[in-house]
Amino acid sequence: MTQHKEVVIVGSGPAGLTAAIYTARANLSPVVIEGEPSSTSDQPGGQLMLTTEIENFPGFIDGIMGPELMSNFRSQAERFGASYHTAKVTKIDLSNRPFQIWTSDSNSADPDYSAEAVIISTGARSLMLDLEEEVRLIGHGLSTCATCDGFFFRDLDIAVVGGGDSAMEEAIFLTKFAKSVTIIHRRKELRASKIMQDRAFANPKIHFQWNSVVTKLHGDTQLEGITLSDTTTNQESRLDIKGLFVAIGHVPNTDVFLGQLDMDQNGYIVTRDGTHTNVDGVFACGDVQDHTYRQAITAAGSGCMAAIDVERWLEAKHHQAV
Ligand code: NAP
Repeated sequence: MTQHKEVVIVGSGPAGLTAAIYTARANLSPVVIEGEPSSTSDQPGGQLMLTTEIENFPGFIDGIMGPELMSNFRSQAERFGASYHTAKVTKIDLSNRPFQIWTSDSNSADPDYSAEAVIISTGARSLMLDLEEEVRLIGHGLSTCATCDGFFFRDLDIAVVGGGDSAMEEAIFLTKFAKSVTIIHRRKELRASKIMQDRAFANPKIHFQWNSVVTKLHGDTQLEGITLSDTTTNQESRLDIKGLFVAIGHVPNTDVFLGQLDMDQNGYIVTRDGTHTNVDGVFACGDVQDHTYRQAITAAGSGCMAAIDVERWLEAKHHQAV
């Protein structure tokens, strides 16, 4: 049976759960369609479920574990009346209000929800190397975020995979902490902009491993090294490192909204006037609309903005209806 809601929130990372806290406190009884457990970063709780310690989220002097932080967000929203649906949105119709939403639990042609307003906070996922050890070692030497984890690699030898601007930026940032940073790139030429290349080349702590791909990660509970394969000779070599940062790009989780919302060339949802999308009543927050900052705190901040935008939008609609 279709349930009608004032607000449906799609996605349960810091953006979605902050939107849930604020809309629940505004008595809007939001439901959060939180995703389904999977080994990748588009799972309930988002990318922080794959991190270990978070030391830069304000308010936690001694840091907090990523999953614990998300569990706190979740309970806080629940306390004010948010509810959760552990499923993925499989189809959404934003062409008319109320909007119609189907999930992976739908067992009829009817939508699971109809909603006056929708907040999209489905996040983005880091592209990974598709090595079987990744699931075990993510957060244990393997990372996708230098800003989040660089501090843990003081005076250690580490590496960054990728040849784009992100890889250069991460590598340069990591030289503040690490003893050495090896950039591993699958070709001999970088994709990064000239200015970023020049900065990386000029940094004495950065070394380059050209024409190389990572084929294996070593270490049971903590990364200890990697196997590299030379793309021109197929020769394998081992590199002993304590940290590996994967910086080969991100993909926003926007497939289900394709053709219905304005997106940029990389598939990120375009927002304006705060968190408004091009469809009246649909709002977007967090990494799904931000490829610049990508931090838990900025995602949470934009989740708060989306909740306030929704509240004001609903209020304006109710006034119009009276
Ligand atoms: P990107 O430009 O798409 O670069 C991805 C890099 O990863 C490429 O060098 C690519 O190699 C490599 N790669 C992709 N898949 C791989 C795989 N499976 N194994 C090994 N290597 C792989 O992504 P990005 O660096 O994240 O940048 C995304 C966008 O944001 C770009 O437009 C960039 O300019 C922008 N950005 C700008 C800044 C800045 O200006 N400060 C900072 C960050 C990002 P190939 O080169 O061989 O394809």
